[in-house]
This record gives sequence, C-alpha cells and structure tokens, in this order.
Amino acid sequence: MIDPFGRLVTYLRLSVTDRCDLRCTYCMPEKMRFLPRSEILSIEELDRLASAFVRLGVRKLRLTGGEPLVRRGLMTLVEGLARHLDSGAIDELTMTTNGTRLAEFAGGLAAAGVRRINVSLDHLDPEEYKRITRGGDVAKVIAGIDAAMAAGISIKINTVALAQDNADHLVTLAEWAHARGAELSLIEVMPLGQVEADRIDQYLPLSVVRAMFAERWTLTDMARSTGGPARYVRTDEGGTIGFITPLTHNFCGGCNRVRVTATGQLFLCLGNDADADLRGPLRSAGDDDALDAAIAEAMTRKPERHSFDHGQKAPAVARHMSMTGG
Ligand code: SAM
Ligand code: SF4
Repeated sequence: MIDPFGRLVTYLRLSVTDRCDLRCTYCMPEKMRFLPRSEILSIEELDRLASAFVRLGVRKLRLTGGEPLVRRGLMTLVEGLARHLDSGAIDELTMTTNGTRLAEFAGGLAAAGVRRINVSLDHLDPEEYKRITRGGDVAKVIAGIDAAMAAGISIKINTVALAQDNADHLVTLAEWAHARGAELSLIEVMPLGQVEADRIDQYLPLSVVRAMFAERWTLTDMARSTGGPARYVRTDEGGTIGFITPLTHNFCGGCNRVRVTATGQLFLCLGNDADADLRGPLRSAGDDDALDAAIAEAMTRKPERHSFDHGQKAPAVARHMSMTGG
C-alpha cells in the first residue's frame, strides 16, 4: 500500500477495545463514556480485519486500545494472528499496554511469539501514579514488567512528559528503566479529545526534557531508524532514550502507519479526521473483496501531515487517544 506521498504503509495499530481500567488524566475524562458493546468488532472480525491489512502488505501489527488486556478473548486474537508470524507474512506482533494485567498474560503472549511490548508508565511513586491514572496500582505494573521480561519479552517504557505531574521525575524514571534493561521513550502530550485539565498546563516540550537530561548524562544521538517517529539518544551509561515530539518536531515525512478503532473505523492519521468505515464492508459480504477495496481506496486519502497546536481552545481532533488507539 502506497499513499499519495509515496510512503509505504506497512504498520497497523489495531485498537481492540476503547475501554480501560485506568483513567489517565491526560487521556480521558474521569467519567468517560465508552461505546456500546454492540458497536465493537468481535474477535473474529478483528482477526479478519488485521489479516486483510497483512494481505495488503502490512508487516507489523500492534494491538492497543483503550487497554488491550481488558478485552475478553484477547489471547484468542493474539494466538490467531500469530499465524502471520509463523508464515513470515509479518515481522512483528506487538502491543501497547498500561501493564496492570501484564503479569497474568506475559507467559501466553511470549508463547504466541510476542517479542516486544510497550508499557505506559508515567510515575514510579505509588501515590503519584494513583493520582495521574485516577486509581491505578503501580506495583501491578512493575510486576507485569518483571513477568514480561522474565518471559523473554523486551520492554519499552512509554512516558508522557507532563509539566505538572512528572517533569522532576523523568531522570529517575530513565534510570529505573535502564537499570532493568528497558528502554524509555518520552512523548509530548497531544491535544486529542476533551479532558478536565487544560492541555497547555500539562504540556512539557521535550526540548526542555532533553536539556534536563543533558545535565545528568552526556547524550549521543543514535542513527537508529525504527520506522517510527522517535529519535533516540544514548546516555554515557549505555541507556537508550527515545523522544517522540509530535508538537515540537513534526515527523510525518516518514509515516508508515494507519490505525483502526475497535469499531472498525480506519484513521489514516492520528491528528486528522480522514477516515474510512471498514465495519460495513467487513459485515456486508462473505468474502473480503469489499474490505480490501475499501482499504485500498482509503490509502489514496492518507493526509500528508498532522498539525497540533496547544494554543487552540478546542482539541485538534475531538476523539480521545483511547478511541483511536495509541
Ligand atoms: N492503555 C494502553 C496504554 O496506556 O499503554 C494503550 C492505549 S494508550 C491510549 C497508548 C498511549 O497513548 C499511552 O502511552 C498513553 O500514555 C498515550 N496517550 C494517551 N493520551 C495521550 C495524549 N493526549 N497525548 C499523548 N499521549 C497520549
Ligand atoms: Fe487507559 Fe492507556 Fe488512556 Fe491511560 S493512556 S486511560 S491506560 S487508554
């Protein structure tokens, strides 16, 4: 699949649910309204959908949400999709999770062929973590990370840099991750969906964080290209830190990804409304011809770039990250 700007689309992020067991303050409001279950694709439909993308050239599948590990039947989906790993049709089957239930699933995920997982973790202090996530238990996340590593899965910690919540904790988080042999990636908060807090108060440019890190370590830019939006540095102690900067540095030129929600809505760009309904074609016919055609048509409409601005009153896009799939 090639978009109008010559970019090869090889990466699908598939949201398996919009629901979550946490309520991170920057991600969703406390009283989040979730979609009716009837609108959510079944496990079989999610498999058919992901497999259509694989047929059309996707080489990397990431399951996300909402929280993927709260989706009933998730392991059936993972074990089913693992056939694409076994056949060599995809290079990677992976996941982004908040980690609260990872201890329970780590062994099964490893056995299915999952080799790397991103775990979101914004604070190590139990009280601070509980406040940011509105009720989460950081001990469970740490147990999940340990279980995954023990099962042979590499972990990348994803942390949203938050001016008021963790700015003074990021060096500690990086040291903690590196001591465990995990990488750390930082991301700037994006104006996606309405939350109670004012985004401009949460926003911490990563240029500021990098300067902070440079006081602690000598940082060396790495040439590594993962096909993703992160730029990596290595510390003089050997740890890797990724910076994902949707605000301060637009990285759309190399975009290779699209996202599908748990209702089967394809989003061609995280920060843009361009979309396509795939649930209709998925449910309309016995074969997948209509589905393949809808995906191929949508690729001709992939936007060139996103544009985020915390100066605007309204969010850049109305939908929350938990719906689009992070
Ligand atoms: N629940 C899983 C988790 O937290 O890892 C997967 C879904 S979550 C929406 C995916 C990622 O999006 C998380 O790392 C989260 O921190 C990030 N995220 C959510 N809302 C965001 C926002 N407004 N700006 C930047 N990142 C956000
Ligand atoms: Fe849930 Fe992930 Fe959003 Fe936090 S960031 S509320 S864990 S979906």
